[in-house]
This record gives sequence, C-alpha cells and structure tokens, in this order.
Amino acid sequence: MKKILTRGEAAAVVGRLTIAYPDVKSGLSFQSIWELLISVVLSAQTTDVSVNKVTPELFGRWPDPPALAAANDTEVAEVIRTIGLYRTKSANIVRLARKLLDDFGGEVPQDFDKLTSLPGVGRKSANVVLAFGFGEERMPVDTHVFRVANRIGLCHENTPEKTETALVKCIPKGKLSDSHHYMIWHGRKVCHARKPECDACVLNDLCLYVR
Ligand code: SF4
Repeated sequence: MKKILTRGEAAAVVGRLTIAYPDVKSGLSFQSIWELLISVVLSAQTTDVSVNKVTPELFGRWPDPPALAAANDTEVAEVIRTIGLYRTKSANIVRLARKLLDDFGGEVPQDFDKLTSLPGVGRKSANVVLAFGFGEERMPVDTHVFRVANRIGLCHENTPEKTETALVKCIPKGKLSDSHHYMIWHGRKVCHARKPECDACVLNDLCLYVR
C-alpha cells in the first residue's frame, strides 16, 4: 500500500500553506449565495476570471431566481457567450432558477442533496456553496486539489470523491475549507500539473512526491 502522511505531518502541511497563502479566498466575485451558486455553475471548465467578466451583466439583467426563471435561454447565452460551454450553461442556470422557485421557495438550500438535484450542480459545486456561501466546513475537490493533495501524500486516492473523504479525515478541524483554497493556489503557483517547482516549494521536505 502506498504511504501517506501522518496526521501530524498533514497538520504541518496545512500550517505551512497557511503561512504561504495568508489572504486566500475564492477567485469568484459574488454578493450573495445566489450569485455564488450561479457563478460556480458557470465556472466548470472555465477560469474564475472569465466568469467574473460576464456575471456583472448577467446579475444586472437577471438579479434573482424569479428574474432568471423568466429569462429566455438564448438571451442568457448571448450574455455569457465568452465562457466555455455557454449554451449548456445558459440552459442549466435558467432551469436551475425555475427549480429553485418550484421546489425550494426561491431560496438556495443549505443541503447537499438538494443542491446536487439542481441542473449543473455536482458534488464539488455543492460543497463550494456550502463552504463559502453557508460557512460550513467542506472540502470541494477540483483538479488542483485532487492533484496537489495526492502528490503531497495527504491521501492516495484515484477519484475526487475518495480524495474528499480522505481529506476530511486528515486535515485539522477548522482548516478544511481554507485548505481547499490553499491547495488551489499552491497548484496554480507552484505545484503545476506538468512541471511542479519542487525546489522552490515550502513543502519539499514533507511532500511524498519528492521523498
Ligand atoms: S514538493 Fe513538488 S510535488 Fe510536492 S507540493 Fe511542492 S511542488 Fe508539489
């Protein structure tokens, strides 16, 4: 069985990343849980920067679930046309707004199963909304978190869902949601997919990728 870090070593990793990335937060711009939910759906396979460029007009024209539920898919698609998969996403967010009205009284539910019943909302997106909209301790696993966590040796798993379960067990209490941001930033800045900069990395004496 492949080795993974001890809980003490995992805590040391989180401590180092806390110092390395003191001001991390979501790259998405949002003013409400509703805006966070829509932004997260739009961010699939697209950068946060691209999403932030389209959301001011989107939320200006359709600011809440009733407005978006009444919108025409084609008009919404036109507003978000610069982001990837814009046709699918425009259809999804209009359907999502309608389902919010029909099933949840127009409120974003603070419930994992209800969130994942919404069009375009998967496990990672639901966890992002619960963590950064509702303040729950959650570990959304995106491509960076998956790669970085498994390289470091916080876990040794082959799916995002199993990685999430392992990280929930090994990351110190109260640091789970922050650690999501740390690993995203570390993945973007140092632990790149193709060429990780291990010589310059604050974790290189702990990380199992280089030991
Ligand atoms: S030592 Fe290398 S592989 Fe490990 S976290 Fe740092 S950059 Fe990534």
